Amino acid sequence: MNYQSGDSSRFEQAREQMVVEQLQRRGISDHSVLQAFRKVPREKFVPVEQRDQAYADRALAIADGQTISQPYMVGLMTELLAVDQGMKILEIGTGSGYQTAILAVLGADLYTVENSQKLAGQAKKRLTELGLIDRVNFKLADGSGGWSAVAPFDRIIVTAGAPQVPTPLKQQLRIGGKLVIPVGDRRSQKLMVVTKQGANDFSQQVTINCRFVPLIGEYGWPSE
Ligand code: SAH
Repeated sequence: MNYQSGDSSRFEQAREQMVVEQLQRRGISDHSVLQAFRKVPREKFVPVEQRDQAYADRALAIADGQTISQPYMVGLMTELLAVDQGMKILEIGTGSGYQTAILAVLGADLYTVENSQKLAGQAKKRLTELGLIDRVNFKLADGSGGWSAVAPFDRIIVTAGAPQVPTPLKQQLRIGGKLVIPVGDRRSQKLMVVTKQGANDFSQQVTINCRFVPLIGEYGWPSE
């Protein structure tokens, strides 16, 4: 990687500006969440040719036709998850690994599933370089049905849009656990928070409109 001198302080400034203008000003207030965003170098999670755009207020293209989510969306999903240290979290859609890194910095133990070999490999490399790999377990698979062998989870986050909330994900939540997932059609969704109150007792909160790439697989959309 060829960094020009001065790049790292330029990125630090852009990162701080992103935290204040895109997260804090829009209502992300959890101090530990904001601190996690200050610690994770987003520029390392975007393709080299997009590095100048790393802190832009939007999603960016990564490999295999996928996207790294907009910083605000990552912030909102993280705040809605209400993460405590030591929680066991399932993430479906590792993508760039940026959301994974934020959750690892918050002290969670991550189980992350990605179906693109290329993206999974790149994410693993980045998380290793940042010293976060000890907290992260990777799986290359269709994660739309969760990861039953290591369930239950305190939290589940799905970073691709689903046609409905997959039943196996609800089953793999611990009682008291939360699932954050975009649900809708292939092009636009609503961000939902599902809380498991009892073995068969769930409450659902609908938050904002959003646009994620589709969750492809058994409990998601068919691949085109
Ligand atoms: N949080 C990631 C978002 C990546 S986009 C980031 O900010 O970088 C969503 C990701 O979900 C894509 O990488 C896509 O390949 C992956 N994906 C889609 N369907 C999946 C499935 N059934 N199982 C695992 N990963 C899936």
